[in-house]
Amino acid sequence: MYQNQLVNAIPHHFKEYRREQTLKWWGIDADFDGRYYPFMARSVLYLRQMELGPMQNFVYLVGDREKKEALLVDPAWDVKAALDQAAKDGFLVKGALITHTHFDHVNGLEDLLRATDGIVYVHKEEAEFLRGMKKNIKRIEGGEKIQVGSVEVTFLHTPGHTRGSQCFLVNEKNLISGDTLFINACGRCDLPGGDAEEMYRSLNRLASLDESTVLYPGHNYADDATSTVGDEKKFNPYLKISNLNDFLKFRMGQ
Ligand SMILES: [Zn+2]
Ligand SMILES: [Zn+2]
Repeated sequence: MYQNQLVNAIPHHFKEYRREQTLKWWGIDADFDGRYYPFMARSVLYLRQMELGPMQNFVYLVGDREKKEALLVDPAWDVKAALDQAAKDGFLVKGALITHTHFDHVNGLEDLLRATDGIVYVHKEEAEFLRGMKKNIKRIEGGEKIQVGSVEVTFLHTPGHTRGSQCFLVNEKNLISGDTLFINACGRCDLPGGDAEEMYRSLNRLASLDESTVLYPGHNYADDATSTVGDEKKFNPYLKISNLNDFLKFRMGQ
């Protein structure tokens, strides 16, 4: 079954100890399928994870529950479904955050702009691939912060999978990682613009984030839909390699 969940929520299949951890990670209360946990203070962060299309892509809605506005991360495959979901949750989608411009992450961008005419935040190294959208494009260098209502998104330039790959750190505790870091894996580096050495540096940078940071990958390639930076440092073979040469051999099979 496709994933479609409010991920700043308590997934009902979580065992009790995981639930406790989850609450600690997110520091918030949660609702999941209409269930409420009134003992926690309510967060304004809205973060929904949706699996769309034939390539197990994860598309995300990130927004502010009070302002009821959101951005769509990697509009692809079925933008209508994502916008319908946002509308159902009561949110207006104001634009897009692009992790990178591979087809499976942006093939719905035109549909999104037809529906919203919003801002598209893309790294400057890849803005050229989004033709005919000039007035909507906001070129990102890396390091910028924007607000979606009162929710803060920090842009991290993480080249390696592509030159302009970027991750989004949401309220400092949630990392939307595109095809840079997956659960138990990382993005391939053998496609045009890929660079395993850059990937090594980018992964090291992500590994330096707080271990409780929740990881939201760009594809549903693992058993779980989310992880944490701490768990990836423990279990992800690409993060466990501590020198560049070994990494290059492992990633590129040299
Ligand atoms: Zn990709
Ligand atoms: Zn991808």
